[in-house]
Amino acid sequence: MNDATTLRQEAWTSFEHMDDSRIPFSRPYRAANELRNLTSVLESGYVHGDGPFTKSATERLRAMFPRAGVLLTASGTHALDMATHLLEIGPGDEVILPSFTFPSAATAVALTGAVPVFVDIDDATGNIDPSVIEAAITPATKAISIVHYAGVAADLIELERISRTHSLPLIEDNAHGLGASFHGRPLGTFGALAAQSFHDTKNVHSGEGGALVINDPQLFERAEIIREKGTDRSRFLRGQVDKYTWTDIGSSYLMSELNAAVLDAQLAEFRQIQDARHHVWNRYASELSDWATSNGVRLMNPEPAAAHPAHMFYAVLPDTQSRDALLAHLQAEGIIATFHFIPLDSSPAGRRLGRTPTPCVRSEDFSSRLIRLPLWAGLDDEAVSRVIEQVTRFEFAGTSRG
Ligand SMILES: *Cc1c(COP(=O)(O)O)cnc(C)c1O
Repeated sequence: MNDATTLRQEAWTSFEHMDDSRIPFSRPYRAANELRNLTSVLESGYVHGDGPFTKSATERLRAMFPRAGVLLTASGTHALDMATHLLEIGPGDEVILPSFTFPSAATAVALTGAVPVFVDIDDATGNIDPSVIEAAITPATKAISIVHYAGVAADLIELERISRTHSLPLIEDNAHGLGASFHGRPLGTFGALAAQSFHDTKNVHSGEGGALVINDPQLFERAEIIREKGTDRSRFLRGQVDKYTWTDIGSSYLMSELNAAVLDAQLAEFRQIQDARHHVWNRYASELSDWATSNGVRLMNPEPAAAHPAHMFYAVLPDTQSRDALLAHLQAEGIIATFHFIPLDSSPAGRRLGRTPTPCVRSEDFSSRLIRLPLWAGLDDEAVSRVIEQVTRFEFAGTSRG
């Protein structure tokens, strides 16, 4: 773990001091109208939340999530926090989630005083394994929180069945999955609530930012209140009440207009962003396929029903040693590849705050062998060729490659 942490820190350091020949893992997208939008916010005198760019960006997102309510938040983490509050999760409750996910999904549970319960993944996708969920359900279970890893749909058929059978709402962490779908239906529309992230490592960003997608219409009004410090300010702004007052718990989860101005410009170019990312993803998939087959490497390979958004391209190496060696080889060649989530069940906070009915061995194994390659809109063909060349040149220890 320590080696891995060091590698990641080096990755960040080299990102900050990057010379031109280095290929970073990720680079925030630049949209044409960002500066114009930012200037107009600053000059308008309306810089806090819920202004014209918030409205415009929200409308663009609503077009992607039919029948859902959408509220912009300051981060994806805040959207997850709002979700656990809205589902009235609290002390004595449990929420089931995969060990292989981002810490925010677990802190959103722990912050309410409830216990995150970690279960293992299906290592074909990195997503929660529905077959182990039912054994983890207790009378205290209040919800199931999932992530669509790499924007590839979790097994939603089984998850919806379990959710219905046990009356447990689903929370979707769709931070990777904007624009992805399952049998044609957008990810983010399956759970009672879903979280989007617009952190600058995501396909579309606002620096920091997020959105809560509200598919259960009964939760919308309270979501507005929780996002506005527990007040009915949103209703006041619409003229529905003549003064606003404290009515519930909440926090300041709103996105500022400055961030919304960037987000709106980015969403306007969503098609171009996605086309550019898919171009890179498709090249990795086709040009690394022979290399993968002959070296026992498994490339990310989603089923056709799970249309992915080219958020990431990953490969699962035969063992941890070769994964670490490939990371080091690429780093030495000026290419920043990275591993990903460290399983939460064995993390310090996971042990202290969570419960793990059965050790999450597949999460551990998947995490220890996974590598993600550079992928962003604007990574040009020459750079992609360089990454592919260096990956295929890598010498596996103990193999003779002629
Ligand atoms: C980025 C990310 C988050 C957190 O989003 P923030 O906007 O950074 O708070 C949560 N879950 C997953 C899977 C993510 O990738």
